[in-house]
Amino acid sequence: MSSGTALASPLSQADEFNPFLAMAERFDVAADHLGLDRGVREVLRNPDRELTVSIPVMMDDGNLRVFKGYRVQHNFVRGPAKGGIRFAPDVHLDEVRALAAWMTWKCSVVNVPFGGGKGGVIVNPRELSKSELERLTRRYTTSIMDILGPDRDVPAPDMNTNEQTMAWLMDTYSMHVRRSTTAIVTGKPLALGGSRGRTEATGRGVMISCREALKKLGMRPENTRTVVQGSGNVGGIGALLLHREGYKVIAISDVSGGILDEKGLDMPAVLAWIKEHGSLADYKDADRISGAELLELDCDLLAPCATENQITSQNVDRIKAKLIVEGANGPTTAAADKKLEERGVLVVPDILANAGGVTVSYFEWVQDRMGYFWTEEIVNSRLEQSMVSAFYDVDKVAKKYGTSMRIAAYILAIDRVATAYRLRGVLS
Ligand code: GLU
Repeated sequence: MSSGTALASPLSQADEFNPFLAMAERFDVAADHLGLDRGVREVLRNPDRELTVSIPVMMDDGNLRVFKGYRVQHNFVRGPAKGGIRFAPDVHLDEVRALAAWMTWKCSVVNVPFGGGKGGVIVNPRELSKSELERLTRRYTTSIMDILGPDRDVPAPDMNTNEQTMAWLMDTYSMHVRRSTTAIVTGKPLALGGSRGRTEATGRGVMISCREALKKLGMRPENTRTVVQGSGNVGGIGALLLHREGYKVIAISDVSGGILDEKGLDMPAVLAWIKEHGSLADYKDADRISGAELLELDCDLLAPCATENQITSQNVDRIKAKLIVEGANGPTTAAADKKLEERGVLVVPDILANAGGVTVSYFEWVQDRMGYFWTEEIVNSRLEQSMVSAFYDVDKVAKKYGTSMRIAAYILAIDRVATAYRLRGVLS
């Protein structure tokens, strides 16, 4: 039985969709396997620090609006907090807490010397002009900068933030501390100390995870009917790289819905369309399907690369994929996990499959601190090495404990953090 405090009884329907409880439920199962004592469990499961800020922004029309923002630092035991900032109208504290904890576990799975953090601002960025977004980003940065720093907490892009957002953040921080501090943030433009290969890194990591999982299942790319949910930085680039490796990408989606071509989509053409028109809507050379239909398509590989809570107790029985590779954070709920495991579906979990992004963020941070920049070949080959060894580290733990890859990834991650925690001891 779990010795966790908050989760002694099974989760209710509403709780299924709470990302922090979803994280904690897996955490408790892994902690039980490790025989983690109650005190350490309590420390590692909960966030170390949470900051909520009000962000006043002068809008273009002269009115003042106040936005709410968060930065959660889950854990610093293995190094500075690391993790993205998302701008979304429905972002909430339990989501940011979960995302911060997932960053701790993700950094530990790929063995980069960071803890976990995450930021969120409640805003629909599509409703703001570029200059309003700039003012919002700069004021949010100013409000949280006391807890940021290259050795404290290093943000990065996430949903609806990008290189430009990171450039504003880097400039704001640098102006306040009176020196250019490139290592304060990753996912920056190349011209400001960004790393080659960072933009593609998460999608590349997803592609590498798919390849290794296919080997495990004895499948071949050309016979793998692939469905990708999301066509942004993770899904779009992931799908393109899979297409290049010979996978038959039959469907992909964005917020406007999905497109399907049983013969396989021409991914370069799909991405060129999105670049030109801003969305998949009106794409001509494929059938239109809904986002929900996309997840339930008859396929071999499903890569959810959009957001949380997509594969749930409500649709899991209709999911047909044999292999799920999670490009998004938290796309599968804990209840759905159990059903997939019973049915023998292989799930390569988010904290492994999408860790390519933070791995190259680590490379970017190292390059910034050295002031010496690597070629794209070096970045990609180190990413490749890191993802492949993490995949087999997790696989080994799964075999040792007889668990799913999800629980194995948590076991591996928690064990590394717990070991570091015990070595450091408690400051009293
Ligand atoms: N937002 C990305 C993630 O969820 C990247 C985080 C980072 O590079 O710090 O993994």
